[in-house]
Amino acid sequence: MRLIYNTIVIGAGASGLFCAKSLTEMKIDTLVLEKMDRPGLKLLITGGGMCNITRDEPSYEMLKHYGDKGHFLGSAFSNLPPEEVIKSFKKKGVDTFAREDHKVFPQSKKAIDVLYSLCDESYPIIFNICVEKIIKDEDNFIINDTYKAKHIVIATGGVTYPLTGSTGDGYAIASSLGHKIINAKPSLTQIKIVSEDLSDIEGISLANVTVSVPKSKGKKYHELTGDFLFTRLGITGPVILDSSRYCESGMLIKINLNERVEPSGANIKLSNLIKKETSLPSRFIDYILKSESIEDIEASQTKKVNWQRLNNKLSNWVMEISLKGTNKIGMSTEGGVTTKEIDSKTFESKICENLYFTGEVMDYSGDCGGYNLQACWSTAYSVAKAISEKGI
Ligand SMILES: Cc1cc2nc3c(=O)[nH]c(=O)nc-3n(C[C@H](O)[C@H](O)[C@H](O)COP(=O)(O)OP(=O)(O)OC[C@H]3O[C@@H](n4cnc5c(N)ncnc54)[C@H](O)[C@@H]3O)c2cc1C
Repeated sequence: MRLIYNTIVIGAGASGLFCAKSLTEMKIDTLVLEKMDRPGLKLLITGGGMCNITRDEPSYEMLKHYGDKGHFLGSAFSNLPPEEVIKSFKKKGVDTFAREDHKVFPQSKKAIDVLYSLCDESYPIIFNICVEKIIKDEDNFIINDTYKAKHIVIATGGVTYPLTGSTGDGYAIASSLGHKIINAKPSLTQIKIVSEDLSDIEGISLANVTVSVPKSKGKKYHELTGDFLFTRLGITGPVILDSSRYCESGMLIKINLNERVEPSGANIKLSNLIKKETSLPSRFIDYILKSESIEDIEASQTKKVNWQRLNNKLSNWVMEISLKGTNKIGMSTEGGVTTKEIDSKTFESKICENLYFTGEVMDYSGDCGGYNLQACWSTAYSVAKAISEKGI
């Protein structure tokens, strides 16, 4: 078995495979090392098994969905924008379609077709090799004292869904080569609520809910509006998944249901009045009244303080959250190898020449809806382009 390659990619996930495939197309001699016994385990579960590859939106629209890391990904998107991703998969035999919500999926709706299009005989993958040690001599990197390469690409992913192989190994490797790591935590996850028991309203979904998460510095909030769902232990739905990127355990977040009930002297039960004036379901109204200890008497008899409490709950519901256990369910990772030490054009380390990063191992993360895979394809392609432009 050959042990020396021009480039070794560590990790056969979305970004590692796309990078290896692109490198091979650019005639770069490439090997992939993967610690699991098969490739792309996380890719297979994306989009509920259908794989939301990207979006049919221009780069400048998509780049608004990576928090303050849009500028870091700008060059990668210029190298491989969403429309080129679609063309690239078409060339690989994967036709796609876009839904009304702009999410792009393979025509077959099968993630496995995306995986097959990236894994072929054109480059070797060695499985069951967990990369633990990389040292650099004058010309080469030496991996686990065995494999040698001029260029290394770390494509080991983040820390969520650890059974897919994403257990944060890349951070220790990058750190051993001189890189700073920003504390990694799950994101795009449902959130546990520790300040109250929501089991009575499990399964209730609400539209147009505004979620405010405090920014770490100052009094400002990240504010997002969208669909929202109560679960047995907490809250989820698109607006929560995207907001979770900014959350920490112990934080207080604010929920505004964008509903209001004007105090009324009507001879009608309070719960019936709320039902008439809002789009809230009865089971939810019962919960709100019970949790605020507001008696369900005639509106005309309801005290001023109770109208205030009711409207405060509807517009400024403060919940204490926990992210405990979410590493098993988060769809992405916030944190990772600091982007300050990575060249945003080539994704080469600014500290260690010929060391590259692709995908989720880096400290960026996107919203739910195709943003994270698009960033994987774009960064992976940019790395391949940079290595091939260096020449063999
Ligand atoms: C349930 C779920 C659904 C999702 N759906 C979507 C979606 O529809 N659209 C979207 O855009 N994003 C989606 N995402 C996010 C997306 O899957 C990830 O952003 C993407 O897979 C990250 O790719 P990656 O290559 O950076 O890392 P990964 O896919 O995590 O791959 C890393 C690889 O590296 C290997 N590895 C790790 N350490 C080592 C080591 N020491 N030695 C050797 N190999 C190692 C791992 O085994 C793994 O194969 C979803 C995520 C989840 C969990």
